[in-house]
Amino acid sequence: MTHSKRALRLNQASLALVVAWQRAAGSHEVCALCAVDHAGRQRLLQLTNHAELTGAFEVSRSDSDAVRAAATRLGLKIVAFVHTHPHHGPDMSPRDAQCFDRDTLPWIIVGDVATLPRQRAYARPLADVVVH
Ligand SMILES: [Zn+2]
Repeated sequence: MTHSKRALRLNQASLALVVAWQRAAGSHEVCALCAVDHAGRQRLLQLTNHAELTGAFEVSRSDSDAVRAAATRLGLKIVAFVHTHPHHGPDMSPRDAQCFDRDTLPWIIVGDVATLPRQRAYARPLADVVVH
């Protein structure tokens, strides 16, 4: 990937990793931070989803802080928050929209295997939604 102006999206390797994590997580949503290294390569840092219910996610502040600190140590720049919809497409739920409003990162949502597009990026502000 050498495009200077890349759309925000998971590359194939990152998407494959999310799919593998999803397989292990069953019906629970998977959460991660998407970061890039100095060479622009994507790195995914998984966050623990503490939500007991399926169809939801809950990331603790301490987990998030620990992962962000690790990213800083590794010289990574966090570019997006990623979560999955194991049984739906990559569209925001009303609850997602509320959380997104309170977040500061762009989001990437990865939908289930049957959906196209498989992933959708939400830039900030919400009015600038990037549709792939
Ligand atoms: Zn969601």
